Amino acid sequence: MTALAAPTTDPVSVEIVDVHKWFGRNHVLRGVDLSIAPGQVTVILGPSGSGKSTLLRTINHLERPEIGHVDVGGELIGVRPHGDRRKELPEREILAQRRRIGFVFQQFNLFPNLTAVENVAVGPYATGRESRESAVERARELLTQVGLSAKADAYPRQLSGGQQQRVAIARALASRPGLLLFDEPTSALDPELVRDVLDVIRRLVDSGTTMVIVTHEIAFARDVADLVCFMDDGVIVDNGSVADVLDDPRHPRVREFLTRM
Ligand code: ADP
Ligand code: MG
Repeated sequence: MTALAAPTTDPVSVEIVDVHKWFGRNHVLRGVDLSIAPGQVTVILGPSGSGKSTLLRTINHLERPEIGHVDVGGELIGVRPHGDRRKELPEREILAQRRRIGFVFQQFNLFPNLTAVENVAVGPYATGRESRESAVERARELLTQVGLSAKADAYPRQLSGGQQQRVAIARALASRPGLLLFDEPTSALDPELVRDVLDVIRRLVDSGTTMVIVTHEIAFARDVADLVCFMDDGVIVDNGSVADVLDDPRHPRVREFLTRM
């Protein structure tokens, strides 16, 4: 199968250094370090409540760490490390940077009152980066690539969960992202719809974009991951290649998790 939507933006690096995040008194991220090279595919595994979504939201600058920092493609968010003279990104530029990061949610989050093609096109033209005409043209192309050309004018309620998620992936690609984040993209789907969505993500992997994928699909993780991270209770307890982390799990929490799957 051909690679999907070869990136027109260079893939970016992600550097996460000693990130801590609290919600009230709940210390949710407890010192996360992670280094992702441009084009690398990182899969994050771990039990519910371990902080996976919060970590993705921190990478996307939807959460600001109280300690530590996140650096996406050389742009800094969070607390400046000691001796680092770079300025933290101002709010306006955080918004601009977020538009260059594609985020795919568990619950699709499509606009219910817009058709599939409008959902995909709206970002680029609403922000004035593209004319409506060229945004719509590209949206139709992206929908064709995810196998949904026939559904371009359908509303989300007329689509299956798997189709909605493929629209959401096309939408994430519309901004020509250098980084794609997936938060359990197949967890809300009926089992028979999971494969189509994973196939689309697999083709994206071949396109060379930097990707961080939170999933419980272990077989898929084995297939695509350059780097596997296992999170437990707000920290990455193990990370490395598939062989290192999954084939002969050295960490007891990973062993326990895998036997329960
Ligand atoms: P995971 O994605 O691994 O299931 P989350 O990152 O969603 O874990 O949640 C980690 C912890 O942070 C949980 O205890 C959760 O209740 C808490 N949490 C997440 N988001 C919020 C929020 N916006 N406000 C308060 N607590 C939150
Ligand atoms: Mg989550």
